Amino acid sequence: MVSFQDLDLSNPLCNSIEELGFTNPTPIQEEAFPIVRSGKDMVGIAQTGTGKTFAYVLPILRDLKFSKQLHPRVLILVPTRELVVQVVEEIEKLAKYITVRVLGVYGGVNLNRHKEAVVQGADILVATPGRLYDLAVSNVLKLKSVQKLVIDEVDVMLDLGFRFQLLNIFDLLPERRQNIMFSATMTTEVEELIDDYFIAPQKIAIAVSGTPLENIDQTAYNIPNFYTKINLLKELLFNKSEFSKVLVFAPNKRNADRIFNLIEEEFPGQVCVIHSNKTQNYRLRSIEEFNNGNHRILIATDVIARGLDLQEITHVINFNPTDYPENYMHRIGRTGRAERKGKSILFATEKEQEAKKQIEALMNYTIPLLEIPEYVEISKELTDEERPKEDREQSKNRTSQEYVPGDAFHEKKEKNKKVNLGGSYRREIAKKYKKPKTRGDKNFNKRKKKK
Ligand code: AMP
Repeated sequence: MVSFQDLDLSNPLCNSIEELGFTNPTPIQEEAFPIVRSGKDMVGIAQTGTGKTFAYVLPILRDLKFSKQLHPRVLILVPTRELVVQVVEEIEKLAKYITVRVLGVYGGVNLNRHKEAVVQGADILVATPGRLYDLAVSNVLKLKSVQKLVIDEVDVMLDLGFRFQLLNIFDLLPERRQNIMFSATMTTEVEELIDDYFIAPQKIAIAVSGTPLENIDQTAYNIPNFYTKINLLKELLFNKSEFSKVLVFAPNKRNADRIFNLIEEEFPGQVCVIHSNKTQNYRLRSIEEFNNGNHRILIATDVIARGLDLQEITHVINFNPTDYPENYMHRIGRTGRAERKGKSILFATEKEQEAKKQIEALMNYTIPLLEIPEYVEISKELTDEERPKEDREQSKNRTSQEYVPGDAFHEKKEKNKKVNLGGSYRREIAKKYKKPKTRGDKNFNKRKKKK
């Protein structure tokens, strides 16, 4: 095992690390150290808890020379003010025996206060993108001396809608600089940013920590469309005793809300949802309600679920296969602990088969496929995204219900086409909950409720 002695650290850094009680660098720290020192661009895929902050702070402090210049040489951008505070604290811990000026700035604080602080001079500036931009355009802060740019939790930053601020900031930075980026999840947006602004970055990915795959029972369903996925999800969720703490991953914010509304209708008071468009308070409350068992179903997007501490999840339901196979591993790692096997269920349409194959290739495992139970209604209704492009163009005024899809791999087998009373489980549930047979027809349900 590599120890901190094996990294070429300076004495002041060795001393502070010893005082912190750390003996060995974490894998991301070991891998990032030489790359950050080399001056090359770097992209690290690592989650909170892997030691990623020290992974960039250590090599930066190792090579930062004493200077009296006012303008920062290192700029660290993070998505939230909490993270600004945390990162500044981490730097201060490590820099205990080094003379270095660290300053944290973020929105919600009087801008003049930050201007005054900036004028005092800083070597390392930690900032949220909005506040940094305000300071830079006010001309108090000069960014032309920045040599190293670190963007931490870039996936969260983009998900919060900071893309334009980021691009504006890039424009103000010197072209010759080192770019260092950390993200917990790889997304298309993150990849685009890397392609556009990074020069031949070295990529390091830290294997998903936590649950080994053997502790998770994985299954999958091939499902024709969104609304049929909803129908199946509802059927599964009727089994309250088994599905007692369920995390549902949605492909994006819009679908997270959509799924929430449809599931909430069937299971009022049992569901909560989180994504980056929800306020901090709403998110905190949702997580609390889920963790303390008041709500048994949580619907979340990949990026937002990343940093959450969620315990004892019985099932992870993947409403879609992820575009990046690693993200699927992050998702299912949320269930299953040593004592108890976790369960993961994947829904995939015909279009999503390729993404599913990639996930299976990464795991070197074929996820056992289950048949959609007979009693699950196969919906003909399509969402906007599911309808063919021409059709969307032609029929902007037509409701989605009017679109009748053609044959596809999901067409029901002949025996399943007949209208039936449901399987034994379905009948049992129907008896228990007195569900209307035409479940899925909102208006019908509403009428029933009113009676
Ligand atoms: P991070 O992933 O940066 O949020 O760090 C997670 C936690 O791990 C922080 O509280 C760090 O202080 C701690 N940590 C960082 N590096 C090490 C290390 N090499 N050994 C033990 N703990 C560490």
